[in-house]
Amino acid sequence: MYTVTLIPGDGIGPSIVEAATRVIESTGVPIQWEVAAAGLAAVDIVKDPLPQSTIDSVKKNGVALKGPLTTLLGKGFRSVNVALRKEFDLYINLRPAKSFEGVVSRYKDVDIVMFRENIEEFYSGIEHYIDAQKSAAETIGVVTRFGSERIVRAAFDYARKHGRKKVTLVHKANIMKFTGGLFLDVGKSVAAEYPDITFDDKIVDNMAMQLVMKPEQFDVIVTTNLFGDILSDLCSGLVGGLGVAPGANIGTTAAIFEAVHGSAPDIAGKNLANPSAIILASAMMLEHLGETAAATRVHRAVEAILKQGTHVTRDLNPQSTTGTKEMADAIIREIKANQPE
Ligand code: NAD
Repeated sequence: MYTVTLIPGDGIGPSIVEAATRVIESTGVPIQWEVAAAGLAAVDIVKDPLPQSTIDSVKKNGVALKGPLTTLLGKGFRSVNVALRKEFDLYINLRPAKSFEGVVSRYKDVDIVMFRENIEEFYSGIEHYIDAQKSAAETIGVVTRFGSERIVRAAFDYARKHGRKKVTLVHKANIMKFTGGLFLDVGKSVAAEYPDITFDDKIVDNMAMQLVMKPEQFDVIVTTNLFGDILSDLCSGLVGGLGVAPGANIGTTAAIFEAVHGSAPDIAGKNLANPSAIILASAMMLEHLGETAAATRVHRAVEAILKQGTHVTRDLNPQSTTGTKEMADAIIREIKANQPE
């Protein structure tokens, strides 16, 4: 029996998280969920967006499944997502973007895995106005050799373990000669230790264009925090949008699995949210727990339902009347139909 922290989150969070836990349950993997609050939901209850009890739960269990959390723009409390990543030193943000048959998108053959450094640079939280008049503001991006080396190494180790052929490092070292330059230098020296994997680097602006023009040329991508944040959403767009994009935040002592998308307040409470991304993130979580067979079954069931295209939410098929709950039901039926002997 595994014990996993479950953070339902805000907006569409509780409904998609419920769908994901039902799907996991249908695989027969025994998980005891420890429900913990965070985000606006926690502010409502305990006036704290990241209660100590939630931190303690993740610390104890080492694994969490998390719904999206609402972050207010430019005011209010700091992003709880960023705080969780810092608290548990979740330095890897891992986001696969793979084309699914049946999901309308511009490309059919995208299979990219993005490794985004998750703690440093412009998300360090070192920012302030320079004076009381707020006449200017500074955000300081700190890039360390240690932080760069471990994320680049994580990308290469993943490539080697999963039989991938190429790692592309994305930077802006032509302008940000120190932070970008350090990241690129470290990347080149780590790459030299992996002669079996092709290494190249791209300046971020060129990378954005190349991804849109010829995404099939990319395999594993590794980059710094802000570029990774932007490019991973771009990659989600290449494969049909945020509804099918899972993500994981991984450190040495804890891992938090989530959808790439946010709390989607515009569709919250309407049974309209696509649960695929968080269900695919649950498959990543099962794999992390060592439940590889169950992970594969969940992934294949999502693939099958997406391919059929009938029991999918409205974002994937505008004619569809299938809701979050009904799409999860279809995925569960698919899992049960393919139960191992
Ligand atoms: P969003 O991802 O919540 O929504 C963007 C658009 O995509 C909306 O039109 C929404 O309806 C749609 N969408 C998102 N997920 C969907 C799903 N599963 N099914 C169908 N449609 C879906 O982005 P946003 O509107 O920029 O952010 C809303 C809130 O979420 C903000 O407070 C933001 O800070 C937060 N956020 C949280 C996370 C996280 O917790 N990891 C990530 C991104 C944004």
